[in-house]
Amino acid sequence: MRQLVLVLGDQLNEDALVFKDFDPKEDRVLMMEVREEATHVWSSKPRLVYFLSAMRHFAERLRGRGYPVEYWSIAEGISDLGSGLRRAIARIAPERIVCVLPGDWRVKEQLEAATADWPGLLRWMADNHFMDTPESFQAWASQRRGIRLEFYYRDLRKRFGILMEADGKPVGGAWNFDKKNRGTFPSEGPDLLRPVPPRFEPDTMTRAVMEEVEAVYPENPGDLASFAWPVDRQQALLALSKFIEERLPEFGTYQDAMWTNEPFLYHSLLSACLNTKLLDPREVMAAAEAAYREGKAPLNAVEGFIRQILGWREYVRGIYWWQMPRYVELNALGAREPLPGFYWDGQTPLRCLRDAIGQTLEHGYAHHIQRLMVTGLYGLLLGVDPKAMHEWYLAVYIDAVEWVELPNTLGMSQYADGGLMASKPYVATGKYIQRMSNYCAGCPARPDEATGERACPFTTLYWDFLIRHEPALAKNQRMSLQVKNLERKSPSERQAIQARAEAVRRDPSCGTLFA
Ligand code: FAD
Ligand code: SF4
Repeated sequence: MRQLVLVLGDQLNEDALVFKDFDPKEDRVLMMEVREEATHVWSSKPRLVYFLSAMRHFAERLRGRGYPVEYWSIAEGISDLGSGLRRAIARIAPERIVCVLPGDWRVKEQLEAATADWPGLLRWMADNHFMDTPESFQAWASQRRGIRLEFYYRDLRKRFGILMEADGKPVGGAWNFDKKNRGTFPSEGPDLLRPVPPRFEPDTMTRAVMEEVEAVYPENPGDLASFAWPVDRQQALLALSKFIEERLPEFGTYQDAMWTNEPFLYHSLLSACLNTKLLDPREVMAAAEAAYREGKAPLNAVEGFIRQILGWREYVRGIYWWQMPRYVELNALGAREPLPGFYWDGQTPLRCLRDAIGQTLEHGYAHHIQRLMVTGLYGLLLGVDPKAMHEWYLAVYIDAVEWVELPNTLGMSQYADGGLMASKPYVATGKYIQRMSNYCAGCPARPDEATGERACPFTTLYWDFLIRHEPALAKNQRMSLQVKNLERKSPSERQAIQARAEAVRRDPSCGTLFA
């Protein structure tokens, strides 16, 4: 055989470079469901089903195109991708193996090690799904002292002519409309008559995957009863068009808002389709830009949405490949606490955490502010080891692939890279959550109290965080206001805060504190 095309679970892209000169007579595709990819972190059932179902649907689609596909399912019992590839070499003896650059450093290393006895056999191909390349990001980053998203994003807008006027100025005369994108819901909550995202009921293939996952990984976290994600290209395209027509117009305004028992609101829910490459970022951004130009969606929504995909998504990928493998070991704040057990079952009286973790286990989804300012913030303030936080995020979300999850967790959320990504730690008291949601109204804690029996643990731990890191934070200009406020606290107030913080650390779910 001339060429074996290895397709990994997050490479479900028919237009990938590996298929460019694919000859069904001489070449073959190999796809594998291996145990390690489900167990190296304690992967949730929704995440497992999402990836395996999308892979099986993709294999069917390739077969429909007349491509020979070797598909080794869970039942084959292959332990890891490396040993699977060695088995393929022994059985098929290809002249060469081609694979798109993986989304995970560990996988790349493993596949290279597995083929080390056959120099030149394995060839990496660039991932043409992305707008930028790791090399181009590194060239950009190495010319700068601070590598802030804003400047990278503007460069890409200009380079790719996205939301740009003919005269080279940004559409609408500004790069950023964030001020309009911090809306909150009125006291009665989000509009009950608003359009809701489409559900994709599991077909026979997905149901078979669900049964296998329940049988092989019965103890893994998460629940499959609500599973309704798009798992093939047709469904992904429908999810995209429904979002653009129905929810994009309000996306910007309510981007940061949260509401009890409302897991999706106006978000696109497209991250998993993008990360498995069922959708191309170009088509997603083009659809959003067209909606603006046709007067169907306002600029604050469209720019806010495009910024996430062209800006943040490309930027975190650049950071990942630039900084790995050292990045995953970073722990700038010396955080050593274990991950609280309730992150795996959502059992806590604290309403915001219960809601965000509950929907995560139910759907494999939480939106950005829930990840950053609820689960992420709590871990940061408690002082949880950033690697443990990283492993949790990688395990529970259906869109989790290391290149995108790791910088978001370690860099943006946990400040473990000491400010490479975020210019200051994203820390706030419970009052931020109160402002952006209705969670606090249904919670036994009080967001404005830092000490005492009803103290909100976010508020207590916020002050405790400032106290613990005061010398380092005092050097950061962007933290000066927060540090000044801390300076106003008397020694006895500080003592009371630290005593309450210790009590929270002993009982991080607050199940006993609020019994
Ligand atoms: P929308 O709110 O509709 O945004 C549109 C799209 O923009 C998303 O689909 C996504 O592709 C992209 N996007 C938005 N924010 C980011 C971001 N910060 N980085 C990269 N792309 C972004 N995103 C993942 O795709 N996979 C992850 O594993 C992941 N882990 C995260 C962990 C933490 C701690 C945090 C704070 C964020 C994480 N994110 C991750 C980013 C973001 O939370 C998700 O992309 C978003 O919530 C997905 O929901 P959505 O598709 O409805 O996004
Ligand atoms: Fe969360 Fe504190 Fe509000 Fe309770 S009071 S919901 S713990 S922010």
